Amino acid sequence: MIHRLSRRITVLELPRFQFPYCNCVWIEDDRTGLIDSSPPDDGQEFLKGRPIDLLLQSHGHLDHCFLTPDLKASQVLMHPADQPMAESADGYLQEFGFNLLVPDKHLHQRYMDAIRYRPIQVTGPLYEGQVFDFGHVQVQVMHLPGHSAGHCGFFFPEQDFVFTADLDLSPFGPWYGNLSCSIADLLASIERLLALKPGFIVSGHGQAIVKEQVPARLKAYRDTIFQREKRILDCIRRGHHTLREIARCLPTYQKLPPPQQVFLLYEYIMDMIHLNYLVDQQQVVCDNQRYYLPA
Ligand SMILES: [Zn+2]
Repeated sequence: MIHRLSRRITVLELPRFQFPYCNCVWIEDDRTGLIDSSPPDDGQEFLKGRPIDLLLQSHGHLDHCFLTPDLKASQVLMHPADQPMAESADGYLQEFGFNLLVPDKHLHQRYMDAIRYRPIQVTGPLYEGQVFDFGHVQVQVMHLPGHSAGHCGFFFPEQDFVFTADLDLSPFGPWYGNLSCSIADLLASIERLLALKPGFIVSGHGQAIVKEQVPARLKAYRDTIFQREKRILDCIRRGHHTLREIARCLPTYQKLPPPQQVFLLYEYIMDMIHLNYLVDQQQVVCDNQRYYLPA
């Protein structure tokens, strides 16, 4: 679906989650800009024949960079922390924990074939506070890490909204299944959005334009982290102490969607990231790779 927010700003929306696509923002001004490159079919049709001066990539996940190799933008910018996974298959597999947790190399290739991974060429960095002036429209980069180390949002001060990319307000809650993910960073990123109080949010997945109850939606999204935390602590209390045992309780996903092998890997890493956070917070003690509640 195509939503014109103003004469110069258009949202290309995919109203439900479907890999490898996402909601994107198009800016048509003295210069043109696209934020993320995986719009659904009608968005792809919309972009045909429109030259792209600046392609701003919110982060390195494939469902935000999927069409970058085809779009031939003059500049492709991404936060340096996410460039390795966007620029090489090895970097992607590394970030998704395959080298650490999946010994069978055939599965690495099968995963990359299934997601149709293609590396992209990043031509420059995005960083906190960077301002892009397209002529009339201005965009400020907000480094909002946690979902990935280089995850960025984009603030449109004049129009008073933030494109929050994968801080997407989904009922599932934040996803942190990469080795560079961080719960502390995620919580801080969500607090930043709450403190900014934007008039509305454009999210990277699902319903794109969120105007109703933005603070309540952000808090509900954040609170899914605490609900998972409670389930992890319950699981340890019931006598599960290794990462493997805890992940088998599915405190994050509760029910694995297909393909279950892949989502079990995400479950593992998200539980690992969460346990690291709980150890830092002294809510959990780790001894010889076993997790306990403090005495
Ligand atoms: Zn993502």
